[in-house]
Amino acid sequence: MTERTLERRVQGMPASDGAGVRLNRVIGTPALKHLDPFLMLDEFKSDSADDYIAGFPSHPHRGFETVTYMLAGRMEHRDHLDNVGLLEAGGAQWMTAGRGIIHSEMPQQQEGLMWGFQLWINLPAAEKMQRARYRDLAPDDIAEARDEQGVERRVIAGDSLGVVGPVGGLSVDPLMVDIRMPSGSDIAHPVKSGHRAFVYAYRGAVKIADETLTAGQLGILRDGDRVRLTADGDSGVLLLAARPIGEPIVQYGPFVMNSSEEIEQALRDYRDDRLTE
Ligand code: FE
Repeated sequence: MTERTLERRVQGMPASDGAGVRLNRVIGTPALKHLDPFLMLDEFKSDSADDYIAGFPSHPHRGFETVTYMLAGRMEHRDHLDNVGLLEAGGAQWMTAGRGIIHSEMPQQQEGLMWGFQLWINLPAAEKMQRARYRDLAPDDIAEARDEQGVERRVIAGDSLGVVGPVGGLSVDPLMVDIRMPSGSDIAHPVKSGHRAFVYAYRGAVKIADETLTAGQLGILRDGDRVRLTADGDSGVLLLAARPIGEPIVQYGPFVMNSSEEIEQALRDYRDDRLTE
């Protein structure tokens, strides 16, 4: 057994996306461009409607998967396949853009806290042009467990100490767990060797070996087969891991492919209204 230690701590940076939603971008910045296969991680958290009310009107994606996970607030998803889903506190949405999806995510509230995450996970070349797929995960669909220390796990993808999340069967074999820890509690969580893994603290602070990660920071983990987290105050973290793809990444806004020719094709397809065909 090898414990994963902290390789690098990364601070998010303020950014704006969609029609002007203010957020903390943690992956997809000059400091951390990608963390193969993770392409982007945003945290949006505000109780000021001006920061989120404009939402994410209709926009395209090609070549990867987008995951939205909500801690507070309500958003409505709509896409070109006529899927409509309400994203609410504790729920998630796992969308495989594949060859193309055109969707919107718009707030369903005029005031109050909106808090959540958007994560982009890359697809290998052989899977980039698959048909788009959308999975709406209601709060009840997410697997939950609580240990004797009061540590709560909400498992969205993969296997968390025998608790299996609703999302599985993907080639990058993702693990995505929201871990909520009372002050002083600790947990040793398995993470597959060779998988790229990180912890993002969204509340409080956690210790990884002797180093502390505070809210708003992402910690990239060295290789190993488990990570030990100790809560320094009441804390909440996301634990993410997945198999790296190891292919070239060429990104242009919402399109992520392997070459600039494929990006040009995506732009042509979008212009010609053929992105999703
Ligand atoms: Fe989107």
